Amino acid sequence: MQVSVEHLVAASGVELKAAGKDLLGRCPFHDDREASLVITPAKNLWHCFGCQLGGGPIDWMMKREGVSFRHAVELLRAGALSAPRSRGERLLPAPVALDAGDRALLDQAIRYYQERLK
Ligand SMILES: [Zn+2]
Repeated sequence: MQVSVEHLVAASGVELKAAGKDLLGRCPFHDDREASLVITPAKNLWHCFGCQLGGGPIDWMMKREGVSFRHAVELLRAGALSAPRSRGERLLPAPVALDAGDRALLDQAIRYYQERLK
């Protein structure tokens, strides 16, 4: 399981509207006037058709906070403790183990991206 992209985006102050299976919102990374940001909850992915950026929860945090992969993971873990739980969801574990050494973290990061890019 992963941290919900939907919650991360909502927590960033982006108002989301349902559009079929997706959610649309205004991208905070460019001057967006027509809701170019698409969230796909089923895949836990986001994509902006304006900036051509996208990815999963870690990519969102890296872009949103301007931090490294590892720092983004730490922020996600910290944020998971205070994330809104509107539908009685349980807290989700971070996508990688934070007590892992650098080498192990790198391996997990590679697996994470391989999994996502399938
Ligand atoms: Zn954008």
